[in-house]
Formats: sequence, C-alpha cells, structure tokens
Amino acid sequence: TRFPGDESGSRKPRQTPGVLWSKAEPTAVPEPKLLAWSEALAAELGLGAPEAQDVEILGGNRLAPTMYPYAACYAGHQFGNWAGQLGDGRAITLGELPTPSGVQELQLKGAGPTAYSRRADGRAVLRSSVREYLMSEAMHYLGVPTTRALSLVTTGEPVLRDMFYDGHPAHEPGAIVCRVAPSFLRFGNYEMPSARGEKKNLQDLVDWTIDRYFPQHQGSETRILDWFAEVVARTARLMVEWQRVGFVHGVMNTDNMSILGLTIDYGPYSFVDAFEPNFTPNTTDLPGRRYAFGKQPAVAKWNLGCLAGALLPLFGSQEALVAVLDTYDGIYWKHWFRMMGNKLGLAELTADDQALIEQAELVLGTVQPDYTIFFQLLADYIGSEQDALAHFTPSFYGTPTDDQEALLTEFIRNWTARISGEDPEAARARMQAATPRFILRNYLLSQAIEGLEKGDDSVLRELEAALREPYSNRHDKFMQKRPEWANAKAGCSMLSCSS
Ligand code: AMP
Ligand code: MG
Ligand code: MG
Repeated sequence: TRFPGDESGSRKPRQTPGVLWSKAEPTAVPEPKLLAWSEALAAELGLGAPEAQDVEILGGNRLAPTMYPYAACYAGHQFGNWAGQLGDGRAITLGELPTPSGVQELQLKGAGPTAYSRRADGRAVLRSSVREYLMSEAMHYLGVPTTRALSLVTTGEPVLRDMFYDGHPAHEPGAIVCRVAPSFLRFGNYEMPSARGEKKNLQDLVDWTIDRYFPQHQGSETRILDWFAEVVARTARLMVEWQRVGFVHGVMNTDNMSILGLTIDYGPYSFVDAFEPNFTPNTTDLPGRRYAFGKQPAVAKWNLGCLAGALLPLFGSQEALVAVLDTYDGIYWKHWFRMMGNKLGLAELTADDQALIEQAELVLGTVQPDYTIFFQLLADYIGSEQDALAHFTPSFYGTPTDDQEALLTEFIRNWTARISGEDPEAARARMQAATPRFILRNYLLSQAIEGLEKGDDSVLRELEAALREPYSNRHDKFMQKRPEWANAKAGCSMLSCSS
C-alpha cells in the first residue's frame, strides 16, 4: 500500500479526511447471471471464457485471493458548485490485472455500499447498466478514448429507485457492470486532498500518477507542469472526438473527468440526433443546459481550471498553471478544424477552408439536420448531379425555411467546388472514417432495455453486434433518424441522473 487509506472496510458512509481510499467489500447478491460479456475485451486482457466462479466474482459474491477491493475518495464540482467529498459510492475496484497491453484495473459498478455511498444504496439498475455496458464498448469501437466494459451481470435483487409509476417509487432489476481502465482517477481525486490542505497526499498522488501513467515526464524539472499540459491536451482532444461523433456526456462534473482523458461514467448521456448545440440529455441539467452538446468544450476547460486550482499548492504561484491552461483553446481548435476537414473530405486544410468549415457549422446549427445522416449523405454527394435540397431531405427533422434552404444550397455549392480538387475515392474514405454510420441512439437503447425487462434480449444482441462495426454499412437498418414516436417518450431523448 503506497497511499494512506482507510483499511477498516466499514460500509458506513462517512467523511474520510487524511486518506485517498477506503477498503470496500462487494455485498453479495442472490442470483448473479451473466447477461453480456465483451469477448473482444476479454481476449485483449488475456482472459478466457467466463466460468461459473467468474460470474460470482463479477456479481460481487466472491473475491479472488489476490484482490484487494477498495473505493477511491474524491471530491468534485457538480454543476459548477463545490460539492465536497463524493468518492466511489457504488464502484469498487477489485484490483489490477497485468495484461499484454499493460496493467488494467477491474472495477465493479453497482456492487453495494462503500464509505462513500452517502445516502444511497451503492447499487445500479439494469437500465443504466445496459447503457453503460453498451456505450463504453460503442465508444471504443468508434475510436473515442473510453473506459471499457467487460461484463454485465444481473443480480436477481430488486433495487428501489425514484422513477415513479402510479405515484409510487418502483423497484427495478439490479445489475453490475465490470469496468476496465488503466485508471479510474478523476480530476476530483486531486481536488479532494487539495481542498483538505493535505499537501503531502496531493504530492504523493501526483507523483504516482506521473510515474505510473505518464512516465515520459518523469525526472524533468517541470514534470508536474508537463503532465498537466498533457492532461489539458488529452482533454481537448477528447472533446473534439465527442463533437465528431455527436456524443453528449450529460454530467461533466469534475468527478466525471478522467485524468487519462477517457470518457468515463456513462449516465444520462446521448448522441445528438438533430444537430442541436443546445441539446442536453440530462433532465437535471435544465434549465441551465450547462452540459449541452455545444458547451462541452468550454466546460471541459472550466473543469481543467478546477484541476489547476487543485494543483496550485504544489506551485509557488499560479502563472505557469494558467499559461498551460490557456493552451487549451489552441489545441482544441487545431484538432477541431482538422476533424471537420476530415468530415468534409479535405486532405489538407488551406487558409480558405476555415471559412468553409465555419459555414458547415452554421448550416448544421441553423438547419439542424440529423448530424450523422447529413455527413453520410454528404459523402454520397461527391460527384452527384442531384439537386442538393432533394439529396439532403432525408436528414431533415422539419421543413427548412427559404433562408435555411438558401444557406444549405450555398454551402453545398462551395463545398462541391472545393471537393472537386480532391481525389473522390480518397475524400469519400476520409469522410466515412470521420462519421459513423451506426450510433447507439437513445431510442435504440430504450428498445433494448424494454426488451430485456420482458425477458427478450434480441435487440441487445443486435446492438452489441452493430456497435463493433460503426463505420461499416452492415448495420444500415439502424441508420435512420430518430423516429417520431421517440420524441416524447421517456428515456428516448432525455434521462435523469437516477440510475
Ligand atoms: P454520478 O453523477 O453518477 O457520477 O455520481 C455522483 C456521485 O454519486 C458519485 O460519488 C457516485 O459514487 C455517487 N452515487 C451515484 N449513485 C449512487 C448509488 N446508487 N449509491 C451510492 N452512491 C451513488
Ligand atoms: Mg460519477
Ligand atoms: Mg455515475
């Protein structure tokens, strides 16, 4: 044990000053059943097919002798406000697994209370666990940095949630996801010792983070600053990736920001269907829309500011940290323009392309077509003689106004002129690598969950297969706009934090 931790193993919720983690044992469940298993991830980890005793482990009923399960102590800024100690309230890290691709941590989410459960039960419901399991893997195959999901286990134990049916809180089936990542450290892990004035703990945690996950910065005089610069860069690039595929996290609190630049903590997330910069999938985020699609890049920088603030005790003054923080915008925009250039099929960006890209964004934000389908149609439009408006109509959610039509037509004219200078096959390939054909839309997840609640796993299986090939045309039956019926239905466009 390198770090000060609370070895008591008590599940009683409490403040834990002076420690960075607390021992935490999973609480047994009546009937763990394996509902989904990521074979590809298991193979990467060097694991074979799960046997009965593995399912017991994944359900929290058994520990391997080398496991030392714990819950991490972290704090966070939630919706812009300091929230104090939070911690792994329903996540328990089982231990570390040496794998061919490096050491990975295995963590059970929903395996019962820890010191950090506050007033909650430490459990997770099936609907949110299905969402986390599928989306972690979907993001991986989209090429977006993310924590992974190895398994989804139902517990056989009902969980009480505040989803009201007929005026009564309802019991929902419980489930546990086994998450995998090199580390689950969050910005909030550094905010906690900093806020408590525990400079030694903060220094030890930072040193350990660098030694272990950022060894390239070891030994340098400016190592902490260099490491922070890399966190800034990784976070900026992650935001570009989210904007590329249209992912909205929904709860970008500092305790949900990975120090490795991974997407972490899948809750009330959503892909955008229509390109609506103001869209937030999280009902708790109304009316402020702090975590709306278009605001994510700015919020990430704000969160990095919190991290910088947490690191301040390790520096004499704030100048150097602020200077590094200010590199965020340059990194973000450089990668954003390159990403948009790819979506538009451009091999090299010229000075004039900035205006074309900005026009593309203006068209998207104004016409608000289906983001994914619009870019697929754009790739198909290379060399096409068809009327632009007719060609893009399948991506519209409403009827565009005359002004919107004019804007779109002008953009398509400019883009057509520009793309005629590119090799059409290469341009199409570039575009199709930058925009998926399959995305896990909320209404699809909702159909999978509804099926499972009736004992039918067919949609789950179809989605599991489709998410592994998001850029292929083999799952084009799902390449459809969000259907009309899904607009008003609970869980199909907006979700609550309750999970
Ligand atoms: P989230 O918004 O899901 O990232 O969670 C914020 C905080 O609440 C974290 O500290 C979680 O561990 C905790 N939390 C959320 N749900 C539960 C639950 N059912 N039981 C215990 N802690 C929870
Ligand atoms: Mg969280
Ligand atoms: Mg959560």
